[in-house]
Amino acid sequence: MLAAYAVRVEQSRGRRYPEPPHAYRDDFQRDRDRVVHSRSFRRLENKTQVFTRRYSDHFRNRLTHTIEVSQIARTIGAALGLNTHLVECLALVHDIGHPPFGHAGEKALDAAMRRHGEFFDHNLHALRIVDWFEQRYADFPGLNLTFEVREGIIKHSRDYSQEQFPQLAEYLLDLRPPLEAQLIDLADEIAYSTADLDDGCEAGLLDYDGIRRGLPIFERFYHEVVERRPQVSPKLQFNEALRKLIDYFVSDIIPSTRSNVEASGVKSLEEVRAQPRRLVGFSAEAERNRRATKEFLYANLYFSPVLEPEKESAERVIAELFDHWMERPNTLPRSYQEKAKREPLARVVCDYIAGMTDNFITGQHRRVMGKERKVTTAG
Ligand code: MG
Repeated sequence: MLAAYAVRVEQSRGRRYPEPPHAYRDDFQRDRDRVVHSRSFRRLENKTQVFTRRYSDHFRNRLTHTIEVSQIARTIGAALGLNTHLVECLALVHDIGHPPFGHAGEKALDAAMRRHGEFFDHNLHALRIVDWFEQRYADFPGLNLTFEVREGIIKHSRDYSQEQFPQLAEYLLDLRPPLEAQLIDLADEIAYSTADLDDGCEAGLLDYDGIRRGLPIFERFYHEVVERRPQVSPKLQFNEALRKLIDYFVSDIIPSTRSNVEASGVKSLEEVRAQPRRLVGFSAEAERNRRATKEFLYANLYFSPVLEPEKESAERVIAELFDHWMERPNTLPRSYQEKAKREPLARVVCDYIAGMTDNFITGQHRRVMGKERKVTTAG
């Protein structure tokens, strides 16, 4: 039962290379399956979200984070009568453009590119992956995804201006994305902020009392749990409170988006697109709590001195490898040397590094720096 303002697969603007329909799956289901079967999707397993595996195997990585986003996004999408196949596909693909080493890696890669007058943006990189880098099909490059999925990759988390990004003109930059794409950014934030509270405690960088003191909305749920189940372990009380926090955010988006839709009078996808602003959102109260949760994590976790050495090493590994391949392009893999004949070398090196997992880049760094040291010593 799709709402009037949902994306209808039969009205999709289609694929770059037309393909015959499939007997059992519609185009958005197929796109979701193409993402799941892609190499860059599998690599998410070995990309840091916030904590590296050095701490524990229980921490989220980008793959498990992605699955959590997909769960949350599907719940919201289904309750709003949206196209859940498209929602699921957009959730599963939303982090595919992330480089190794989490935010530190992204920052370092962007900094390296800026030294060459370029920049790195994970949404644009995700689009390059699905359009070009994935090689699975004989008839076309990339995954040949439908327009709505490619548009969602670009527009789910921010707006790009036509003047600054003329190459993205086909994605209707002056229009809002469908609600299926709009909800991904909020589902992402619900997933990572609640997960980071959990992993932060597991890592010993946060503690239950600190969260209760610093985050009133969490304390509200924790208090409820303690009242109801005073005899269970603090860990279970914490888990229950966290579960309530996720449910609070998710359960808020649904009615508040519905009332935004009603207030706007929107009755079709075209009208969603023509709105001056996005319609998916929290109520004023939940929005305050969303911001408070984020601020708590910034103040108490993301800049923790304990995480500093790992961040510094991530930045050093990326910066050194970037410079290494800029100075010695003939040591890049053959396919990247070929690409460098058609594209700026900095972009090619950036693409190579961005695709790497934490494991692979660490191995490359050890190998390359070992060789460099040998040469220096010999010289
Ligand atoms: Mg994410």
